[in-house]
Amino acid sequence: MSAKEKIVVCGAGGFIGGHLVADLLKQGYTDVRAVDKKPFTEWYQKFDEAENLVLDLQEKAACDKAVAGREIIYNLAADMGGMGFIELNRALCMLSVLINTHLLMAAKEQKVVQRFFYASSACVYAADKQTDPNLTALTEADAYPAMPEDGYGWEKLFSERMCRHFTEDFGLLTRVARFHNVYGPNGTYEGGREKAPAAICRKVIEAKLSGKHQIEIWGDGHQTRSFMYIDDCVKGSQSILNSKNVTMPINLGSSEMVTINQLVDIVEDIAGIKLERNYNLKAPKGVNGRNSDNTLIKKLLGWEPSTPLREGMEKTYRWIYDEIKAKG
Ligand code: NAD
Repeated sequence: MSAKEKIVVCGAGGFIGGHLVADLLKQGYTDVRAVDKKPFTEWYQKFDEAENLVLDLQEKAACDKAVAGREIIYNLAADMGGMGFIELNRALCMLSVLINTHLLMAAKEQKVVQRFFYASSACVYAADKQTDPNLTALTEADAYPAMPEDGYGWEKLFSERMCRHFTEDFGLLTRVARFHNVYGPNGTYEGGREKAPAAICRKVIEAKLSGKHQIEIWGDGHQTRSFMYIDDCVKGSQSILNSKNVTMPINLGSSEMVTINQLVDIVEDIAGIKLERNYNLKAPKGVNGRNSDNTLIKKLLGWEPSTPLREGMEKTYRWIYDEIKAKG
C-alpha cells in the first residue's frame, strides 16, 4: 500500500468505517473519500482531511460517484445492528445486497480500481454449528452447507459469493473478512441497533447513575461469544485487503470466548458495582454459542486479533460513560 493510493470508505459515518478513516489519515493517506447515507451530523466520526460525501449507496448512480477515480474500495456500509435489530428487520437487512451489488458493478466499470474489501459477518455460519454454548470455534468451512442467520446472514453470504464471482469472472480483486462482534468507542450504544458489549455498558452505567441496581439480560446469560476490539478490526481489515494469499472469506475475530454473564461481570467490575440480574428469555438472543477459529488467519497473516476483552471494554465503558454524562 502506498500513501498515494486513492481510497473510498463506504459506511464511513458508522462505527467501523469511522475508525478506518481515522486510521488511514493517521497513517498519512492523503486521498481518502468517506461516504455514508446519514447526514453529517449523525456520523460518529468525521474528518476535514477526508473528502466527505452523503450518498445512498443502494443506488447505482451513487456508487458510481463513490468509486469514481478510486483504487481501493472498502465496503462497510450496511443497514445493520445487534440481534434486537436484525431479528426484527430481516427485509431491511437483505436490502443491503443492493449496496454491495451496485458497488461491485461500479468498481468493475472503473478501470482504476485495484482492490475491493467486503465486510461480511460471523452470521453467515450455519445455525446447526452454533447450538452448543461450549462448541468448538467456527472455521471458515462451517458456512456450508448454508443455513445462516435469517435475513442478515443470507445477505452477507450472498454478497460474499458475489465478490468471489466478480473476481473469477471479471478479474476484480476482492477480499472478504467475516467480522465477529466488533466493539469499542464511537459506536452505537442506544436506540435499538446496539450490540451486546455497548448495550451492557449502557445498562450498567444507567443502573449506576440512577441508583436502581438492576440489569436486564437478554437470554439466560449462558450463551457464549467472542468480541473483537475495534483497533484489531481496523488493522486486520487492512491486512486482509493488502494480502496476496487471503483469497477466500476469512474469520476476523477474537478467540477469547466468554458467556454473556462473564461479559456482565467484566463491566460490573469496571464500574465498581454489583447488580441484580433479570433474565429476559423472550428477548432476541441469537445462537447459543459462537467463537472465532483463528487457525487460518494465523497461518496466512501470522497475526490474530489479541486485545484482551477487559482492556477493550474498559475503553468502551469510559467512552459511553462520558457520552451519557455529557447528555445529562
Ligand atoms: P454501523 O451501522 O455503525 O455502520 C454502517 C454504516 O453504513 C452506517 O453509518 C449507515 O448509515 C451506513 N449505510 C447503511 N446503508 C447505507 C446506504 N444505503 N448508503 C450509504 N451508507 C449506508 O455498523 P458497523 O458496526 O460499523 O458495521 C460495518 C460493517 O461491518 C457492516 O457491513 C456490518 O454488517 C459489518 N459487521 C459488523 C459487525 C459488528 O460487530 N459491528 C459484525 C459483523 C459484521
